[in-house]
Amino acid sequence: MSNLKAKIIPVTPLMQNSCIIWNEDTKNAAVTDPGGDLEKIESYLKDNDLKLIKIFITHGHLDHAGGAFNLSQKFNIPIEGPHKEDEFLISALEEHGKMYGLSDSKNFLPDRWLEDGDQLELDGIHFDVYHCPGHTPGHVIFHNKESKFAIVGDVLFQGSIGRTDFPRGNHEELINAIRTKLWPLGDDVTFVPGHGPVSTFGQERMTNPYVADQLFNSTGNE
Ligand SMILES: [Zn+2]
Ligand SMILES: [Zn+2]
Repeated sequence: MSNLKAKIIPVTPLMQNSCIIWNEDTKNAAVTDPGGDLEKIESYLKDNDLKLIKIFITHGHLDHAGGAFNLSQKFNIPIEGPHKEDEFLISALEEHGKMYGLSDSKNFLPDRWLEDGDQLELDGIHFDVYHCPGHTPGHVIFHNKESKFAIVGDVLFQGSIGRTDFPRGNHEELINAIRTKLWPLGDDVTFVPGHGPVSTFGQERMTNPYVADQLFNSTGNE
């Protein structure tokens, strides 16, 4: 049985799925994509006696990364991710925050840029890192093999995929990343998307109107 636990905390007006993950044995925790509403995250940690030790970022968009700097300062903990290709986004978080009314957003440089093949470590629990560009060029996702659990940011949603009409978005790359990086992890992997309900890769391979397997069969458009 795995000692990994997870709790989704929707943050910002965009209801972005920030995720608190922790080792049930030691109560040491990490938070993924703390875009804002840090008091919600902090009160969950407090109510459950969790000790925050790391921040993991999937990509540089405001609703995912806007609160990372303030949280890292307050708890004196490192930020890991995203991939360096998202530097143009995390160095514009203050500017974007002013435009969208999230004035607490701060630029940052992570303590560690992530690359395909890297691993994140949370107190003995490991997450494999996969670079999945398309929604943003530096988007990464995190996969825990033992628990068949993934955190995929805005790469894939239940019934949809990430937008690619933002600067440096690329639809082909996104589809390719989903099919070559996510699907091989297994149909039985449960994933937390950046927005909306959790799903499994198997469910999306059957029903997702953008990336279902049937769209790519021999008579399809591939
Ligand atoms: Zn995004
Ligand atoms: Zn998002």
